Amino acid sequence: MGLFIDVREILAGLIDSIEFDYTLPAPQSFNDISFPSEVQITGAVKNQAGYMTLTAHATVPYVTHCARCTKEISGIFEHTFTRPLATKLEEEDDEYLMITHGEIDLDTPLLEDLILNLDFVYLCKEDCKGLCFKCGQDLNEGDCGCADKKEIDPRLAILAKLLDN
Ligand SMILES: [Zn+2]
Ligand SMILES: [Zn+2]
Repeated sequence: MGLFIDVREILAGLIDSIEFDYTLPAPQSFNDISFPSEVQITGAVKNQAGYMTLTAHATVPYVTHCARCTKEISGIFEHTFTRPLATKLEEEDDEYLMITHGEIDLDTPLLEDLILNLDFVYLCKEDCKGLCFKCGQDLNEGDCGCADKKEIDPRLAILAKLLDN
């Protein structure tokens, strides 16, 4: 099931713009980022002297973990997507969204672009101190007293903590 924007009235020259407002089902989780609810999309298709563009603003809540201390964090990801539109192209060009039978199939290109623009690393706070490499203590909660707490993959730190118990 796709999200199709019908632009036939623009193509026919009857109107210059169409606004839209949709929700898409929550995307599949990506890396350690999961999406607990739907994607809200608002946007418009505009025709300016024959040059057509689509702009969509997507908002989706996400849940992930701090890359340093593994604490769960959540937020709202916002993404703006703007593409020129074409009914036909001389050569294939990924920049353009194609209008097929008077419609634009929006969900796949929009969700792909949204995923591409997610951050790779999320932190619970800018200066998160992370976990101690030796004992796995969350160093935001205080110093554990270990001499060597050099940064390491937090998953290994959790493992170290488990092995220690
Ligand atoms: Zn953290
Ligand atoms: Zn420690």
